[in-house]
Amino acid sequence: MPGILKKITRFFSATAPLVTAEVKPSALRLSRDQHGISRKAIDNSALDVLYDLKRAGYEAYLVGGGVRDLLLGLEPKDFDIVTNAKPEQVKDVFKHRCQLIGRRFRLAHVRFGRQIVEVATFRGEDDGKERQQDQTGRLIRDNVYGTLEEDVWRRDFTVNALYYDIRDFSLVDHVNGLADLKAGQLRLIGDPSTRYHEDPVRMIRAVRFAAKLGFNIEAQTEKPLFELGRLLLDVSNARMFDEVIKLFHSGVGLEVFEKLRHYDLFKCLFPLTDALLASEQEHFPRQLVIEALKSTDNRVREDKPVNPAFLFAAFLWEPMMQRRDLHLSAGLSPQDAFFAACNDVIEQQVKRTAIPKRFSSQVRDIWNLQFRLPKRFGPKAAQLRAHPRFRAAYDFIGIRLAAGESELAELFNWWTEYQEKDPVAQVAFANEIRPMRDKKPRKRKPANRNLFRRKSRDADGEMD
Ligand code: ATP
Ligand code: MG
Repeated sequence: MPGILKKITRFFSATAPLVTAEVKPSALRLSRDQHGISRKAIDNSALDVLYDLKRAGYEAYLVGGGVRDLLLGLEPKDFDIVTNAKPEQVKDVFKHRCQLIGRRFRLAHVRFGRQIVEVATFRGEDDGKERQQDQTGRLIRDNVYGTLEEDVWRRDFTVNALYYDIRDFSLVDHVNGLADLKAGQLRLIGDPSTRYHEDPVRMIRAVRFAAKLGFNIEAQTEKPLFELGRLLLDVSNARMFDEVIKLFHSGVGLEVFEKLRHYDLFKCLFPLTDALLASEQEHFPRQLVIEALKSTDNRVREDKPVNPAFLFAAFLWEPMMQRRDLHLSAGLSPQDAFFAACNDVIEQQVKRTAIPKRFSSQVRDIWNLQFRLPKRFGPKAAQLRAHPRFRAAYDFIGIRLAAGESELAELFNWWTEYQEKDPVAQVAFANEIRPMRDKKPRKRKPANRNLFRRKSRDADGEMD
């Protein structure tokens, strides 16, 4: 990362840090000309919130990923603001534009049209009442308010604990975050094991930031990742769903996946998929997961929309197909076997990560269409094309093909060509396929054979 290093080196070559009275002597405070953050790079809504809080007499800082990414020359995903104003006081400043949310961490959301700026109040030291932990050390409530100096220690990584002060545009660093940023290093603030016990999600945040920023995870921060994965099993499935989306829609999903596998954390997120990966042969089903992640990463980088259902469909496709085989060999009809397999797999998965209904029904649709898209003759082609999940299902055939199911090439190319034609030509094209109707679908082998040797499974078990 030579560009990044050059940028950060600029801070250190600047004049000696200015230490003001209000921060601990160990804090580094870089004045506006000593760091590379320009207000032009900060989102206007976030700036407005900072200025309004300042005008109302409060301290207000930009903190977290926004500051980190600006220093690295990256485009921040969002801008987090922290203040000494209590949530109710923030509400007083922004009135009806402000909504207070969250129980575990009370936060203010300030609305600007469709955009929301999140404002948190400094977290403080425990008074034994407002911060609650469960038996495992997990924080279940953390609404103790304090000062910036106290807030620092509640943050996760040193590079996420840099504060940009709106009063004088200086940058405050209590934890050597700038040095870690310069070294390209993720270091948890405080004792890593304690911090992971407090909030196990920090483990997958470490993996996400390491992949996204290309940073190393410092040795003491890294070691527990191999040992504490089980703690993730206690995190609510709703929060895990959100985290999974952040992990795999980060634009570096493939790298995140490899790292999660490296630390044996992937099994805590997708146990059914992980069990198959452990027994994989001939690159199945690993290759499908990889192709799905590659495709998602490309879309994120091109700023195209990404749908969580697509990834869930890809991760759970093999587990679903394996169960479907079992149900088929137990004598269920193809349709019943398919629906039973969908239910089994989704029911198992939601124990780890919730899948909101709107997405699970899309997962089912994408799977179902895998069996329906081969039956495309005559008017069926147009009906299938009009299905709201057609595009995702077509892309899904694309990743199965890329993952090694070469028998799907003809089907994929046909649908590609179909979509390029005008409506009249589409009808003629779909009528040409008529002779295929009599073609016997290839049978899947029985469930107890080696699942991963099969190369094609199209066209059997039609669902409609
Ligand atoms: P990005 O927005 O790019 O995903 P981020 O670092 O801004 O990265 P957020 O989830 O937006 O991540 O959180 C904002 C800040 O809040 C973090 O930088 C960190 O300081 C703090 N934070 C978030 N989650 C945690 C956590 N689980 N434990 C401790 N601090 C956290
Ligand atoms: Mg953020």
